[in-house]
Amino acid sequence: MTDTPPRPGLVDPFGRAITYLRVSVTDRCDLRCVYCMPEHMEFLPRKDLLTLEEIDRLASAFIERGVKRLRLTGGEPLVRKNLMSLVRSLSRHRVTGALQELTLTTNGTQLERHAAELADCGVERLNISLDTLDHHKFRQITRWGDLSRVMAGIDAAQAAGIAVKINTVALKNFNQGEIPHMIRWAHGRGMGLTLIETMPLGETGEDRTDSYLPLSHLRASLQERHGMSLRESTYRSGGPARYFEVAETGGRLGFITPMTHNFCEGCNRVRVTCTGTLYLCLGQEDKADLRGPLRASEADDALHAAIDSAIATKPKGHDFVIDRATRQPATSRTMSLTGG
Ligand code: SAM
Ligand code: SF4
Repeated sequence: MTDTPPRPGLVDPFGRAITYLRVSVTDRCDLRCVYCMPEHMEFLPRKDLLTLEEIDRLASAFIERGVKRLRLTGGEPLVRKNLMSLVRSLSRHRVTGALQELTLTTNGTQLERHAAELADCGVERLNISLDTLDHHKFRQITRWGDLSRVMAGIDAAQAAGIAVKINTVALKNFNQGEIPHMIRWAHGRGMGLTLIETMPLGETGEDRTDSYLPLSHLRASLQERHGMSLRESTYRSGGPARYFEVAETGGRLGFITPMTHNFCEGCNRVRVTCTGTLYLCLGQEDKADLRGPLRASEADDALHAAIDSAIATKPKGHDFVIDRATRQPATSRTMSLTGG
């Protein structure tokens, strides 16, 4: 009997190896962050969603093709029913070493009751999104969220030994003045903090021109107005962030600047939605249906063929614009659908 040769790794037409997969396990969320979704968000019909078993099969196919890092996101991943059974099942790839990292991006509201099990499944790092430390402002930006639940989630994650990174969307006229305090708070608790520029993804019912804050301005203000000394770091997380060491706190500060600094040259990632659509770029419409080939047969050959054809169409990069003349979002899908 001859062994079937291993399937080749995924390399796009620009020579970029695809080693990072983000899977949006649901488009639903228990919050409604104003820059992310409209208040009365229309969610996808449940029948369109991949089952957890199908998500496992899909993610495992990518792992077979060389994906080393897998991030579950959403919507809010922890609101997907039985999500922990998927995490538990995917953790087998951590055990074999095929996967170097299994992680989640979460808003933290449901984390308190899941943190210990996540740690037990080999989740070593979590990204928790948090835009303010003020209870009233938290309610305002999330439309109804309770900050104390997120804080309890952070406590539980740290108690379980999971490294936490805080992701903060920088918003003019909202949290701009609070950022130095948030940096000191996160670093004081041994957590990194990464600032993100708001991106023009999907209609949210809000005009982003008024809240868009270029991080180049914020960085200058941290140094000049708040006396923070930022030294560029050689650290790379494998993602698009650039990192700085903050002398005062000894902590790490990341900047994700899709708007002011195009980060596409080193892009190693693709995204799959909860309906099995593969998006090749966060800011472009290029996509491929993987649910059809996944459901067409129990063997994975059609799925792998669909993945190969899709990777061959990965665009070179995105071209986001936020200004008063360009009020249209770059894509009609919100970040919660594509998976942030
Ligand atoms: N619900 C989870 C959470 O909030 O962490 C995971 C999904 S959420 C879509 C992932 C990240 O995308 C969050 O950090 C959120 O702040 C960010 N995000 C959502 N919409 C965005 C936008 N238009 N521009 C920039 N970041 C956005
Ligand atoms: Fe939900 Fe995350 Fe979007 Fe906020 S950013 S509405 S928590 S999906």
